[in-house]
Amino acid sequence: MEKNKHKYPNIILIVIDALRARNLGCYGGDRASSPNIDKIADKGVLFENAYCSWNTTDQSLTTILSGRYPRTHGIVHHGDKIKPEDLNAFETLNVRLLSQVLQGKDNGYETLAVDWMARWFKRGFDYYGYNPKRNLLRKLIYYIFTLPYVHLKYIVAHLGLLRIYSKKRRFTAASLWKGFKDVFRTFLFTFELARIQDACFVTGLAEELIKSSRKENFFLFLHYWDTHTPYNCPRNFFEKKKGHMTSEEVLLAKYNGAVRYVDQQIGRLFDSLREERLLEDTLIIITSDHGESLTEHDIFFDHHGLYDVTTHVPLILYYPKAFSEPKRVKGLVQHVDLAPTICELLSIKYKDHGFDGASLMPLILGEKKEIRHFVFNEESYVQRKIGFRTKKFKYIFSPDGVGMCNYCQQVHGGEEELYNLEVDPEEKVNIAVESKIIADEMKKELNDLIKSLNSKKQKEFIKGGIFRLRERGRLDDDNLVKGEFSDMKNEKNEKQSTKKEKVTLELPEEIMKEIKRRIEDTEFQSSEEYLSYIIHEVLKGSSSRIVQNSKEEKKIKKKLRSLGYMD
Ligand SMILES: [Zn+2]
Ligand SMILES: [Zn+2]
Repeated sequence: MEKNKHKYPNIILIVIDALRARNLGCYGGDRASSPNIDKIADKGVLFENAYCSWNTTDQSLTTILSGRYPRTHGIVHHGDKIKPEDLNAFETLNVRLLSQVLQGKDNGYETLAVDWMARWFKRGFDYYGYNPKRNLLRKLIYYIFTLPYVHLKYIVAHLGLLRIYSKKRRFTAASLWKGFKDVFRTFLFTFELARIQDACFVTGLAEELIKSSRKENFFLFLHYWDTHTPYNCPRNFFEKKKGHMTSEEVLLAKYNGAVRYVDQQIGRLFDSLREERLLEDTLIIITSDHGESLTEHDIFFDHHGLYDVTTHVPLILYYPKAFSEPKRVKGLVQHVDLAPTICELLSIKYKDHGFDGASLMPLILGEKKEIRHFVFNEESYVQRKIGFRTKKFKYIFSPDGVGMCNYCQQVHGGEEELYNLEVDPEEKVNIAVESKIIADEMKKELNDLIKSLNSKKQKEFIKGGIFRLRERGRLDDDNLVKGEFSDMKNEKNEKQSTKKEKVTLELPEEIMKEIKRRIEDTEFQSSEEYLSYIIHEVLKGSSSRIVQNSKEEKKIKKKLRSLGYMD
């Protein structure tokens, strides 16, 4: 099929895990590290000040694909710490991913992803995985002759990391047990990971998928992993120094090697797009889900902390057909801005998708110099921190007080941190005490932002909850609750707010008692919070119905009426 000259571009979204912006030549790093990405950046649009919204993969990928901060897409934990509430929230909040939006566009994009994670964000993808259509013999040869070597290399790399951690971490019984589990898990599970996380494998499968794509347009999401620990770097990409190298020097050389390796593979992908005559008609986006701290801030080879090494990400858009002039944008931008940008470029109306970000098109077209004056990011995996960054200052708040980092067994930065980035770009001198006025101002702005995101979440939770209750046939028209929210009346869209939603109370007795207690203790701060709680309990899936005509029920209905939720 002739795949060029169509109305809409194909889209390739490349996420290079844990790639720091500063390690690319086009971001001021060593030009020899990234000749291919630099070439793309030189012809495309490069965002100098792009930031992630969370510093771990699960939340960040969900943000990239949904255009929402984790607080409003629901996934606020990562990996083994994901809770059922995260997934429940993700479902209930009716998050619409880019893959779903593109699948629904006109004739529909073919949506493809090369990534082994395939978690909740695989929604909307026609293909999401890592199974190439190679012939069996080739696969068998690979498994017998190559994989054991690759696997061994992977284990050795992990042991190298462990050596560093053992020097840097203060050990407790719990951390020793965690370390043991990490090594054991690595030994058991990396057999397959070592294969499917290799950039050469990812590019190869991407080429296969592009060649076999059947529809007029495709959206391809590629997740490269080599720059994530243990930093996969083929031997010829590893620059060995003369003489003895410390463990840190080895890992730094491996990280740099991994950057060069991924860069080479991206060059290969470009060559094959050129060969397929697809380059003209494809929008290519290069970014990373977060950066990495390579010893900075006493954080060794991991991505925690909200310092720029970990939050500043590359963001490059290549689509010469629409962005004919190469450009470097200085304004602050975040991952939440990507989905709206793609929608605007494809003339897709996106007001109802609940994006938190804004389209970058005014920046790309030179109509505006800034679309936001701050970026906002958080973390929760080994410590809880919330960051608020303007061009000049960064404020980091620790909700747990002077919280200990579970990874390094030490405190990073204390309860409040403030850095003047103009004079201290490496964020070394905390001026939170001496510049208390600025810290307080930023804290207030951060709190207002969090409040508005939480309120948005609450409203969406109710809307989504009502939708799911109806979908599950758990609505009963005899028993009505008005889903008309008092403060939504003031919103511009009058038509929508006059629609009445109907919900049946269908709760077990003990929950009714709990609700009653909370009403009496006035624990609910707002009517939204109240209804949200009820819906949440219903959605938790208890099958027992409300105790009919009980005293509690009558009182609750009265309360609901007084709040305006029930006729
Ligand atoms: Zn990641
Ligand atoms: Zn730490």
